[in-house]
Amino acid sequence: MATSASPTVWQRLRSMVLQRCPRCRRGRVFASVATMNVRCPVCDLHFEREPGYFIGSMYISYGFSAALLFALTMLVRWVLPDLDLGLCLLIAVVLYLPVVPVTWRYSRLVWMYFDHAAWPDSA
Ligand SMILES: [Zn+2]
Repeated sequence: MATSASPTVWQRLRSMVLQRCPRCRRGRVFASVATMNVRCPVCDLHFEREPGYFIGSMYISYGFSAALLFALTMLVRWVLPDLDLGLCLLIAVVLYLPVVPVTWRYSRLVWMYFDHAAWPDSA
């Protein structure tokens, strides 16, 4: 069941941060740390609309990862200015690894929210 009132941008952002369904904004998208629900437990929205649907989220994940790795590399460079830049990048990669599940989740959420905003009734 979909909500009748159109949500504001802040309500959509809040739902995305809370990892809720883009249609009803109540059902959980993820069942565990690394597992998505196939359908929304509240409104029955099929999250993967078609095979290969989440390929678009890979571009978002790439952007998140590149920005984060750049920021971490610059942070390491700032903390350890005499260290070789390659080692700074290596340390940044190690610091980035625990964040990979978060990047994966939010890249999929951003993709699903974008898709649902652009084509709300196509599923
Ligand atoms: Zn839902």
